[in-house]
Amino acid sequence: MDEVAAVLRERRREALERLAGTGAERDAVVAASREQVADDEHDPEDATIAYERRLLDALAHDVRERVAEVDAALDRLERGTYGTCTRCHRPVPVERLRALPSAATCVTCASR
Ligand SMILES: [Zn+2]
Repeated sequence: MDEVAAVLRERRREALERLAGTGAERDAVVAASREQVADDEHDPEDATIAYERRLLDALAHDVRERVAEVDAALDRLERGTYGTCTRCHRPVPVERLRALPSAATCVTCASR
């Protein structure tokens, strides 16, 4: 199971790196929008900037959720419940865990 923990920690690190990236991108978009507001209050690009900001916020939200999923998986690993579906308490197939190490549920419960 040490191998699984290593994979999970690696995924967590990658996700956090990505989160830092989206944060920096968002700051750049916000800074650009401030300059534009100074230039022209009714700049047609405002909508684009708002859209980009929403997109980056959504992306950051997704990454945060992924980190939470990985944390929960690491927690289950520590408690010895890793690989057991959190809903039906049946074993999660090894192939599913291999494809998605942070999977909390079996395929049946996930598709419900
Ligand atoms: Zn299940």
